[in-house]
Amino acid sequence: LLNHAGVVGRLINEFSMLPGVGPKTAQRIAFYLLNAPEEVAHRLSDAVREARDNIKYCSVCSNLTDIDPCTICGNDKRSKAVICIVQEPRDVIAMEKSRSFKGLYHVLHGAISPMDGIGPEKLKIKELLGRLHKEKVEELILATNPNVEGDATALYLARLTKPLGIKVTRIAHGLPVGAYLEYADGVTLTKALEGRQEM
Ligand SMILES: [Zn+2]
Repeated sequence: LLNHAGVVGRLINEFSMLPGVGPKTAQRIAFYLLNAPEEVAHRLSDAVREARDNIKYCSVCSNLTDIDPCTICGNDKRSKAVICIVQEPRDVIAMEKSRSFKGLYHVLHGAISPMDGIGPEKLKIKELLGRLHKEKVEELILATNPNVEGDATALYLARLTKPLGIKVTRIAHGLPVGAYLEYADGVTLTKALEGRQEM
């Protein structure tokens, strides 16, 4: 790989930091943008800046949003009695694509992982408890990933919330063990949701 100095090198470096983008792809994207009409590059940089400046956490569910509360929390047609707890905003997108869930979400922004130094205090659990005290919630569906961290997080949340008299369920392991919710297709997610079991 050639060593590019200056502004071009900087651009390649920035792209190579993106998840899933290696140095070769970074170089390809950089040169594509430099060779394309100016407005292509401007549109991209505007979109990045605008999204980054305007996206914040929903004050209810902690999902990423540009309006607060987000469009899901603000939708009167959705059931407020059921909250599906997921690890990441991309998991909400996966669940929404499956079209099988009509309740609300809560996004933890991670999972408990002692090896990575992530304890419960680093997740949006305080916010969840605040919700449970304020709203009348009948069921919590724990849809954290079916791997060690996701299971540990589900167990922790079940112990924490069951004393509040709320039904706590875990999505079925129709998902392969160690899998990530975001990669599951709609049918698998729907089945996992339907087959959920009380913890
Ligand atoms: Zn929300």
